Amino acid sequence: MISSGNGSPIGLLLSGGIDSTMLLNHLMTTGCRVVPIYVRSNLPSQAAEMLSVVRSLRSLSNPALDGLVTLDLPMDEANPRANLRNRMGRSAAGPMPQFSRDVRQMLLFLTAAQWCAKIGVVQLASGETKHPRELAGQRVFYRDVDLLLGGAAGVDVTIIRPFAQLQRRHVVSMGRRFHLTTNFSCSSPLGISHCGVCPKCERRREGFDQAGVFDTTTYVRKKVVAKAA
Ligand SMILES: [Zn+2]
Repeated sequence: MISSGNGSPIGLLLSGGIDSTMLLNHLMTTGCRVVPIYVRSNLPSQAAEMLSVVRSLRSLSNPALDGLVTLDLPMDEANPRANLRNRMGRSAAGPMPQFSRDVRQMLLFLTAAQWCAKIGVVQLASGETKHPRELAGQRVFYRDVDLLLGGAAGVDVTIIRPFAQLQRRHVVSMGRRFHLTTNFSCSSPLGISHCGVCPKCERRREGFDQAGVFDTTTYVRKKVVAKAA
């Protein structure tokens, strides 16, 4: 549930992707005061994500929108594989394993929530949508996030996921009138372009396909469709 009563601001994790950008628009239209947060992790997608975040914020002129907060959570040294990718300047190693992604996400929530707590923001919003293939994992993950914040970390901030019951196609449909192709969602970009084959690109394509919205995103590599034997 979103609680924006008496103008209390809501922290919003922006990644530059479709979900979080659409949640930003949603929160703005529902009268919430929003503090946009981007966490820099020095991963290959950072430049393209930042570009998307800045473009999205510039397109909104709303006094209820605070200035962008950027926090640092370097993952290139903590994750040798990501570090290798950065040094190579390209994505040759394929998608990050699930374990690393979950750990990064956990630390990302902790970093943003700690900052929110310092300035008295008690709700931190994530634009994550429901992923049918990962539903059980999502439940466990957010249970663990709540345990971490409320337990060991002692951070009095609630994670809210207003789009948790929506699938990507619903959010893409919501965004028909926006320039969705300026958003960025790729874990293995080539420069600032979508690779076309990583799990994030695959999910992006699915979202457009299932929503019946023409996808004008430029993908560097085409999707390989297996031929029937
Ligand atoms: Zn990709």
